[in-house]
Amino acid sequence: MLTFNRLNQGNFHNMNTVSNIGELRAALTKRQGKSIGFIPTMGHLHAGHLSLCERSTNENEVTVVSIFVNPTQFNQTSDFEFYPRTLDDDIHLLEKHNVDVLFIPETSSLYPDDYQIQLSETIISKELEGEFRPGHFNGMLTIVLKLFNLVKPHRAYFGEKDYQQLLLVKKMVDALFLPIDIRACTTKRALDGLALSSRNSRLKPDERIKAALFPELLQSELSLADIKAQLLAHGFNVDYIVEQWGRRLGAVSLGHVRLIDNFPLLPT
Ligand code: AMP
Repeated sequence: MLTFNRLNQGNFHNMNTVSNIGELRAALTKRQGKSIGFIPTMGHLHAGHLSLCERSTNENEVTVVSIFVNPTQFNQTSDFEFYPRTLDDDIHLLEKHNVDVLFIPETSSLYPDDYQIQLSETIISKELEGEFRPGHFNGMLTIVLKLFNLVKPHRAYFGEKDYQQLLLVKKMVDALFLPIDIRACTTKRALDGLALSSRNSRLKPDERIKAALFPELLQSELSLADIKAQLLAHGFNVDYIVEQWGRRLGAVSLGHVRLIDNFPLLPT
């Protein structure tokens, strides 16, 4: 169970922090008629998440963020258990970035059906991340649809860092005729090129230094086979390095931490 000390203290500037569906609906009713931008997250927020928030606050009258570490999209219990949770810091950052409503639901409230009802996609979700993380995209699509139904945003913001996720969310919105504009946001990186990710904080100092080799090699002019060979030689485990959807995409791990990234392919 999460603890959030700053909840219920009533000292928020403008942000409504709500932890159940009734409170969320009340917060949205107060803002009826306004354009809503939505950013679903799993928390431990960094400048990548905040860039999505900034874009939403620029493009909408109301910005809603959710923080929910969704158990159904984790195929490894240890990844779920050790997923970093820093709610107090997250609340502070979102307040500073002019977010209007923060939704921090409990698992039981989002899964009254115990996950008997699931949304799945049959092609894209089976490859790459789907192959290495079975069930991940069913969990992701199901929770995003539930959150869309609750928040009813006009626009929703997703990072290109999770490129396959972005494609699947767009596909879902088209297939189910959801009246939501999905906006793709570029990947924010650390100075050494590593894509910002909540999981980066789980890298040991030496792994964190080495991790920068991943984006460096992924966007190099080396062949896919050579990129893979170099990564292996430097002690990475490599799940895949491929070219697809006009991008070069890769997934590797260092120790227990899995990293994904992608770059657009340059026109030839
Ligand atoms: P997460 O909390 O990892 O589920 O991410 C929430 C949203 O932030 C997703 O749409 C991610 O693609 C996006 N995101 C995560 N990392 C980055 C980044 N480095 N740059 C831009 N967007 C990101």
